[in-house]
Parts: sequence; C-alpha cells; structure tokens
Amino acid sequence: MNNTTKRAYVLYVFILAFMVGLGIMVYSFYVNGGEWTSNLVNKHIYSNGQIANAGAIYDRDGTALAYSEDGVRKYHRSETVRKATLHAVGDQSSFIATGVQSVYSSRLSGYDFINGVYNLKKYNRGNDINLTLDAEICKVAYNAMNGRKGTIGVYNYKTGEIICMVSTPTYDPTNKPKNMDGNEKYEGVYLNRFISGVYTPGSTFKVITAICALQNIPDIESRTFTCTGKYHTDSGDVICNSTHGTVSFEKAFNRSCNSAFAQLALELGREKLMTTAGQLGFNAKDYMGEIPITKSSFDVSGANDVDFGWAGIGQYTTLVNPCHMLTIMGAIANSGVAVKPYFVKDIVSPAGEITVEGETTQSEIITLDTTVANKMRELMRSNVVNYYSDSTFPGLKMCGKTGTAQIDDGESHSWFVGFSIDPETPYAVVCVAENSGSGLSAAGKIVNKVMQAVCK
Ligand SMILES: [Zn+2]
Repeated sequence: MNNTTKRAYVLYVFILAFMVGLGIMVYSFYVNGGEWTSNLVNKHIYSNGQIANAGAIYDRDGTALAYSEDGVRKYHRSETVRKATLHAVGDQSSFIATGVQSVYSSRLSGYDFINGVYNLKKYNRGNDINLTLDAEICKVAYNAMNGRKGTIGVYNYKTGEIICMVSTPTYDPTNKPKNMDGNEKYEGVYLNRFISGVYTPGSTFKVITAICALQNIPDIESRTFTCTGKYHTDSGDVICNSTHGTVSFEKAFNRSCNSAFAQLALELGREKLMTTAGQLGFNAKDYMGEIPITKSSFDVSGANDVDFGWAGIGQYTTLVNPCHMLTIMGAIANSGVAVKPYFVKDIVSPAGEITVEGETTQSEIITLDTTVANKMRELMRSNVVNYYSDSTFPGLKMCGKTGTAQIDDGESHSWFVGFSIDPETPYAVVCVAENSGSGLSAAGKIVNKVMQAVCK
C-alpha cells in the first residue's frame, strides 16, 4: 500500500465513522426528539411544571377535558368528570403512563420531527386531541362504581370507539391528594385498570370454554351434565356454587355450573383449550394505537386434573385484561369480527390539519368463526332472558356473563361482561368491581346504570 492509498483509506474510515455518527444522531433525534422537547426543562413548553401552551383534549361532544390558559393547565369544571376521565386524559408528571398527556405529550406540546417547535412558536400553542369518550357517560360510570376499585369500559363493537373508560381509584388532578403513597385507598391509582390491569376472570372465562366446546364437540347442544355440587378428579374436586342436578349445555352456562364446565375442560383437553384461548388473543401482545395493552395469560400445560378443571371455570393462574375481554365480547356480538377498541380519535394542528389516530380496524390477535360467534351470542342472550332476567336491564336487549372470581385474599372480584344486541345501540361492556362479591349483584348493577345512559 503506498502513502496515497493509505491516506485515502484513512479518509474513508473517517467518512464512514462520520456517516455512522450522523445516522445515529438523526435516528436518536427522530426517536427521542419529542421527548427531549417535552422535557420539563424546556421552557417553551413547560412553566412551573405545567404543560404551558399544550393543546386541549376534548371528549366526543367537544367538551374540553384538559386545556391550557395563561400558561396553566386546566381541567373540566366538574370534579366528578375530572376524576372519571383522569386515566384517559393523564396527569402532567406522566405517572399515568397510558394517559393522553403522557403518550401524546410531544404532539400536545406542538412538536413534530420536521418542524420542531415551529408550530408552537408560530401559533403559541400545540395540537389538540379529540377523544371518542363521552364525559357524561364516564361520570355516570364513576358514580356507579360508588367508591369500589375496578374498571368499566364500553365500546361500539361496529366502529371500535370507546365511549366509556373509567378506572378506580382515581383522584382530582386539580387538587391532587398529598397522602396517596402507601395509602391503601389509592392502591394502584396511577394504573388504568382497563388497559393495564389483569384479573382472575372467574366464570366469565366459561365463555372461552364454551367456545372451545362449540368448536370441538359436535353434539354439545344436545349433551347433558350431572352436577352433584362438585366435579371429582383424581387430584381433587372442583366445587360448584350449587347442586344443579342434570342440566343441558345451555342451562349449565345459564347457571354457571362449575361441575359441567370442569368436566367439559377435561373432556376437551389442555391442548384444545389452549388453542381456543390463543385464537381469542390470550398470551398475545396488543396495542391500542401507541399504548401497550397488558396481555391476558392462559397456560394449563403443567396443570394437574383438578387445577385444569378449575382453569376451565376461570380460576387457577389465568389472568384477563379488561380491554381484551371487551374485544372478545365485541367479536361475539359482531358475528366473529373483532373490532379493536380505541379512544384517541384524531389530532388537530393549530393550522387545522387533522391526523387520524383511531379508526375502525380488526383485531390481529382475535379470530372467531361466525357460526360459533352467533351460537355464543344466543347462549349469552339466554343467560339474561332465562337467568339474570331482562328486568335487571330494563328496556335493553342485553347478552352477558357474570363472574365471581375467587382471589387468594379478601372478597371475590365481581365481573360482568356482555353487549347490547339492539342494532341501534351496538355496544359491548366490561366491568370489574374488586372485592365486591357476586357478579350480578355488584358489576351487573353497575353495568345496567352505565348501559341505561349509553343506550338511551
Ligand atoms: Zn353445578
């Protein structure tokens, strides 16, 4: 190698290093630019820890849930609405990681990759965000929870729009309590239980076992089961909530017979039930826009017979995320088509440009056959007509399944999952009321109050 070649070679190395460095810088600016800009030290955007000139967040009717005025972040005038929408709107310190003020902070502040804070300087404000939520219905839901911890979510199973999403405990963002740390009353207060929570499903999981039975046992609808108050396996007994005697598949589902469903699980086998759970989105990661949804988990590969029997009725190690369960309800209601829920409708720049964030899309993690979905819908309608009673949901045409999920310590979690089959009101609902006992008496009543407001 002569000297010229050597120098050229060295130069190439320098150029290459420069290009790599430039690439890394551009990439990290692209990835982190929004975050750097919205860093609390950036005085363009923040003053006194407030998102000074950030855009507003509106509900579906154009009611401002959060906005900035004279450099101060303000919220809806009603304390109840502020509490009911806290987890959707988010806080200003990003403790509520899935809230709009955390996830979309750079866009609220007016930052974009091409223009930087150009819009903010030109218009002195950031982008506005429109949500699909209805503040008044969220308020009804918050009041219906009546101090219980848990969550309630309602979405349109044809369009995917979430109109109600409330997580409790919550707090008033304009008057944040000082004593929340270590206070049992505020346990998990920053968690949006709808998106990030997981719970033992209890008997709501019988929907999944029933779907597996419809898929795999051809004569399931003419089968009968005998319940003596328990189902015996070699490794122990699965206890039923009652002694149901001889029941059909439909009646076993109506009355939530543990003996029948534990027997069904063992007859179906671990592999088939895990396949059905997988098809319905268990053990799969999912997102709502940019927001990660905590995955539901179902694994019976190492379960002995009695544990597997309990798993078939929603106990054992199974955990279900409420948003995921709501999407399964949507799939059943919508003839097998699982429409993904979303609550950020669009983002509007100060110049009026609209970026659509949420639109009607099909879930990538849930598949359900139309025939099975329609049969499941009939069974869930039969639960209400023949067991919970239509008078529990006056004026509505509800389908549903309750759950009373036993937990290791304390009173059971109360679940209600279901949907309206009235084509005018295509809404699915999920409710978990923690430590509240029976599914119908706690969560069922909350669901009725909310669905009355939704379907009126
Ligand atoms: Zn029974």
